[in-house]
Amino acid sequence: MHREPVKERERIKPPDVLNYPFEPPKADGSHVEIAPGLLWLRMPMPMTLDHINVYLLRDGEGWAVVDTGLGIPRTFELWEQIFTEKLAGQPLTRLICTHCHYDHAGAAHWLQERFDVPLLMTYGEFMMLRSLMGPPPDPMPQSHCDFYAKAGVTDEELGVMVSAMRKDPFMPKHPHSYQRIRPGEVLQIGERKWRVVLGEGHSPEHACLYNEAEGILLAGDQVLPRITSNVMVTPIEPEGNPLKYWMDSLHRLRELPANTLVLPSHQGVFYGLHERLDQVREHHEQQFDLIKEHLLEVGKASAAELMVVLFPRLRGPIDRLMALGETIAHLNLLKHAGVLLRQSGTGKIEYFSLA
Ligand SMILES: [Zn+2]
Repeated sequence: MHREPVKERERIKPPDVLNYPFEPPKADGSHVEIAPGLLWLRMPMPMTLDHINVYLLRDGEGWAVVDTGLGIPRTFELWEQIFTEKLAGQPLTRLICTHCHYDHAGAAHWLQERFDVPLLMTYGEFMMLRSLMGPPPDPMPQSHCDFYAKAGVTDEELGVMVSAMRKDPFMPKHPHSYQRIRPGEVLQIGERKWRVVLGEGHSPEHACLYNEAEGILLAGDQVLPRITSNVMVTPIEPEGNPLKYWMDSLHRLRELPANTLVLPSHQGVFYGLHERLDQVREHHEQQFDLIKEHLLEVGKASAAELMVVLFPRLRGPIDRLMALGETIAHLNLLKHAGVLLRQSGTGKIEYFSLA
């Protein structure tokens, strides 16, 4: 049920404490050299979040690629152009996808077929990609319908959200095979060593790559400078606590040095890792406060009612679906922590109240 990987609607504090040392490249095949043998490029995306950053790492006589862009013809054209013109025929050696979302792995099938290279992913991400990434099941299973009914979503509203998901034009073909990478493993790519650092919550087993010698973090969607990554509960795991795993991941990443250069999957390359991790943690703590304040005022509320408190400006059905999943992620964390209680109301609907 995952779709758009990152939500753009709510910005945290102005990120003026961050420092952006490079002008970003255009999403037309041009690149910025971050360091020798480390190139930053962008792939265009025809959506509100209009690009994804991809990185090329010098790997012997060729280049390893980190993340792919969407599985759409424009992405394929750009990769052709990059490898035939820009890199003068130097080969693609391997493809690494930080996680399963389709802006990161959507062209993996195409790149693997076109260049006959291994795809490196964690087990959790590859299995998620192969098993659960796609349009909602048709018909929706009763357990999925119940999940939304309990949250306070009407049948009509659910129908609108599900049909918007089924019309998603970017669902890619999936790759058939992969090479597993594991948290803590060190990849030797050309002259650099990259340690796989685990991120959880936005996706099941997100791989960041950290180069200790030069203090560079290929952060994927785990650390973004201006938007927050979507962390959501879905009907696949209704009692899940992904926001807990997400907060734990922020904590783990904060153990990296403060002067780490962060190469994120969206927006600019930046310095200010600790400041940004703190901002994201504070943002979620503010969301917890909003929930508690609202419940103090009204006594009890459904997930759908609390969604409007946390996300007052939503643009469409897919936005609402993601916001609902993220609201439930906040509620589940507070429930697991003993701060909230959940009880049945009329019909299937469930209400949250302060413990
Ligand atoms: Zn993502």
